[in-house]
Amino acid sequence: MEALLKEKIRKVIREASSIAIAGHVRPDGDCVGSCLALYNYLTAAGREEDLRTVDLYLEDIPEDFRFLMGSDQILHQPKDVRYDLFIALDCGSADRLGAFLPVMRNTKSTLCIDHHVSNTHFTAVSLIDPGASSTCEILFEIMDYDRIDQKTAECLYLGIAHDTGVFKHSCTTRRTMEIAGALIEKGVPFSRIIDETFYQKTYLQNQIMGRCLLESIMVLNGKVIVSSISRKTQEFYGACPADLDGVVDQLRVTRGVEAAILIREEETQTYKVSMRSNGIVNVSRIAVYFGGGGHVQAAGCTMEGSLYDVINNLLLHIESQLKAAEQV
Ligand code: 5GP
Ligand code: MN
Repeated sequence: MEALLKEKIRKVIREASSIAIAGHVRPDGDCVGSCLALYNYLTAAGREEDLRTVDLYLEDIPEDFRFLMGSDQILHQPKDVRYDLFIALDCGSADRLGAFLPVMRNTKSTLCIDHHVSNTHFTAVSLIDPGASSTCEILFEIMDYDRIDQKTAECLYLGIAHDTGVFKHSCTTRRTMEIAGALIEKGVPFSRIIDETFYQKTYLQNQIMGRCLLESIMVLNGKVIVSSISRKTQEFYGACPADLDGVVDQLRVTRGVEAAILIREEETQTYKVSMRSNGIVNVSRIAVYFGGGGHVQAAGCTMEGSLYDVINNLLLHIESQLKAAEQV
């Protein structure tokens, strides 16, 4: 990472008299991990001399993440405060801030730290590193290692573990592993964090996963796998969006598949699309085309129309990319 930019970011954070931190809607592991890590880092015990306000805004976080320090301090409603500095973490575009966008609009200076290749550079200062495995990895590079306590290390480790699919996605580098090692040295209970926040599923989540796998279809000569879940089915199981985490990743590891799509009906004629690729297909490009974003191998968007149209439109893009790569 560019040393000058890193120093500039540190200075911006150091000199702010009040700070609001926020992440993206439907926060995932890296989003929650990075937001809580920075919050804890800036407000840790022993820093009582630091009397400035630091507030953290996030939507409701998944139950599994609530053991992380600071999660009981999260604000869900925007306060009517004009902060000195707004920091968006793991957030690729302004609309992804959801209800917290007005907080940013009302803030003097703005900063974004993120690793989405689709990032729209919506803040005055931004540190975007698409080569980083996670926002937590970038944050580690900015933080002073000696000032990272065990609780902050847990947040960073969780975020890195989640965004790398437990250190297996192609975004995992030697540096990622070195950072994870440095965090383990802080006493992070890594086995427990990985098991309890990544692999462990509730009975209901397993049932939904089973159902989505059962109803999936293979298309484009077995290069693409698609599954969808209706609102009625989600209601039947009493499932929230986070209960579907991991489903599209399981679809992706179907042998022979280049891309996997999971389509969740949000409203009538409105669908949330999650895409994964095994390398050839750039799903970020497709997601951006339809107004969303993400990474080359993991991206999402919201689409309107009939389910049939949504699938067809997505497959047209995937097919043309596969054809260009002479895969179909
Ligand atoms: P997931 O499929 O797990 O929801 O998301 C995969 C990746 O794409 C994540 O990095 C997520 O932040 C990004 N992503 C998902 N949906 C959207 C969207 O609607 N807009 C943007 N900009 N990014 C998205
Ligand atoms: Mn991330």
